Parts: sequence; structure tokens; C-alpha cells
Amino acid sequence: MTARLPALLADPAPSERRLWLTGGRLFDGTGSAVRERASVLVEGGRIARVAEGETAAPEGVETIDLAGATLMPGLTDAHAHVGVSFPTPSIEHGAEPLLPGTPAHFLAAELRRALQMGITTMRDVGSYGDLVVEARQAMRYGAFQGPRLLTCGRIVSPTAPGGRFFAGMYREADGVDDVRRAVREQIRYGADFVKVMTTGARSVELEDPGPAQLTRDELHVLVEEAHRLGYRTCAHCEGLAGTELAVEAGIDTIEHGMYLNQRPDLLEQMAANGQVLVPTLSFLHYTAREGEWTPLLTDLGRHNVEQAQLTVAAAHAAGVRLAMGFDYEPLHEAANELLRMIEAGLPARDALVAATSGGAYALGIDAHVGTIEEDKAADLLAIDGDPLTEPAAVCDPARIRLVLRLGAPV
Ligand SMILES: [Zn+2]
Repeated sequence: MTARLPALLADPAPSERRLWLTGGRLFDGTGSAVRERASVLVEGGRIARVAEGETAAPEGVETIDLAGATLMPGLTDAHAHVGVSFPTPSIEHGAEPLLPGTPAHFLAAELRRALQMGITTMRDVGSYGDLVVEARQAMRYGAFQGPRLLTCGRIVSPTAPGGRFFAGMYREADGVDDVRRAVREQIRYGADFVKVMTTGARSVELEDPGPAQLTRDELHVLVEEAHRLGYRTCAHCEGLAGTELAVEAGIDTIEHGMYLNQRPDLLEQMAANGQVLVPTLSFLHYTAREGEWTPLLTDLGRHNVEQAQLTVAAAHAAGVRLAMGFDYEPLHEAANELLRMIEAGLPARDALVAATSGGAYALGIDAHVGTIEEDKAADLLAIDGDPLTEPAAVCDPARIRLVLRLGAPV
């Protein structure tokens, strides 16, 4: 299903500039081969025309020469904790403590930076307080430019230790009526989709990621309520019991899902149903880092990295659609996840598809963004060189030639 569109409604007014992007290679995000010489006409914030070969510029346009660069769709980070993963200053003893409104300015600065890195869409899968909807509104009304933001509002979770560890990020709900109400509350709040914890988290020592945390009935009601109202669903899934419930209930995107390589039948179902996997390798690598977590969690982290890498390869082989989700900080470095997926065996072209059209599909906005095709929004990124042979270029600010957000150069 396509998503309801509060996030697109929150887009700023598109640029009125007419741009002719020419002379570069074109990776259109669909997965088809790179076109060596192509030109793109941008009008009214949209892609008005994609032309092959040597074509004269239309009358009255601004020409942007992309010789030596590759033009591609803007990137989507499908798994970000937007209101959490931005740097704030560490305050020295005796210095003035942060005022309540100051972090919002740091978030705005980080979102600007993320957009400068070509991340034109970001899906917030859980934050504290109202920072994310406030930033979304500020961008809509023109305060600053950043990626298009979609948010889940609060994460719906059964009563669990995580509710204590991440107090304020969860809406704990138990029983079908409470779950239904929790879904409606998120929509009331302005959420673009609904997220649920089907299992515990590997970042919480008191949680066992093994068993499903909620009942089949609770999960089915959550999906039914969200889908009936036109909203997509996203599930935190670690252990296979919860992952299986999520696949069966028709959850649209499975987050983490690192043990899926052990269940080819579930991968097959996901591929058949068009359910997306967001592997979030970057955060898993972080949980495996010595000295950051309790020994129990570090051990689990190491195991999870191995499993998640196997799962990326198995999901790809099974034809499951993948989306790039960083799940780590700072937000503007999200394209590092692309390299992690390649490291796990995903061909560079497929990793780039996951970061562009895969993300748009995961968010249910693929009719609007994610590929370079006529009538799509002109959210575009041009990289010096060829990201298919040199994917690290996507992570290098010095290699970013151009970013457009709804046709406006950033
Ligand atoms: Zn996460």
C-alpha cells in the first residue's frame, strides 16, 4: 500500500527554477544500467524530462554541467532516530547548561548537513519529545532546509523494560483495545506510519530479544487499524518468533530481522508480499564494539553482526526488497550503511537501489520520489565519479557536486 501523505504535505513549496542537468552519467535508481550521457530537465520542483544522448538545452533554462559526475536520486535513510542521533555540545563543569530550546537548533544544523550529504528523505523510527515534528513544521514553513521527514510518533510497545530505558520514546499498550487506541494516538499526533516493538532490543540488558513480546491478536489489530486508516507499519524484529508474527501480520517493513537467514520460508513470504527488510548493520556493528556495552550485550552484538550479514545476502538472493537504514549517528553519515551492506555481500548497484528507490518503496512514497523518472519530485544528488565502482564517494562531502531538494539547489 502507499502511505498517507502528511510528510509530503509538509514539503516546502517547490522551487520555480528551470534547470537543465547535463553532461553526466545517470543512475536512475531503478536498478537499470547507468546511462552514459543523459540530461534531466527540472521544472516546478519536478523532473519534467529525461533525455538520452546529446540533446540541446531547452530555451530559457539554467544549465548545470555535470561532466565527470553521476546523477542519482537523493538518498533515503529508512531507519533514523532523528530526535536522538544528532550531536549536542558536551558542557564543561561550570559552563552554562543547555537551555530547553537549544537542542532544536543543533538538530536543525544536523538536518541541514544531512541534506547537504544528499539525504533527501529520512524516516524517524522513534525519538524523545516533539523535536521531530517541530523540525518538520519549521522546514515546512521555511525556517531551514533539510530532508523530508517521516515519523512514527511514539513507538507502540507492550509494557516492557525498554519502556523504562527509553522513557518517552514508547507508547506502551497492552490488549487489543489499548493497542488500537495507541495507533490512533500516533495518527492524531501527526505520525506518517506506525512502529511496533515485536521483540525486545539488543541494547537493553533486561530484554530478551527471543520471544515475541506481544500477542498475535495485538499485532494483527495494530496492522489492521493502521492499514484501514491508510498508514503503513514498521516493526522492530529481532528474535524469529516476533519476526514471524510480523511477517504473518502483514507488517510493511521489518527492521533489523538479523536471524531471517535461518528462515528461508519467511524470506520467501516477504519477497512474495513485497515486505521490506531494513538491516541496520551500522548500529549492530556499534553494539559489537568493545567497551561500549555490557559484556553480555557486546557478545550478542558480535553474533548479531554475523547473522545480519548472512541475512543481507540471503534476503538479496531471495528477492526481498531492501532499504538502507543507518540506525546510528550522526544523521548526516547515513550513507555509511551503504558500505556496510556492500561489505555484507550486496552488489554496489543493489545497495544504491536500496538507498534510493528501495527506501522510497519502504516508506510508501515511491510514486513521488526514489527514482529519476518523469514527473517524480526533483530530489537529486550528483556525485563526482562513479558510485557503482566507487561507492565510498557517496559518503565523501568533497565528492558531492550537487544536491537538489524539490528542484532547489542546496
Ligand atoms: Zn533503531
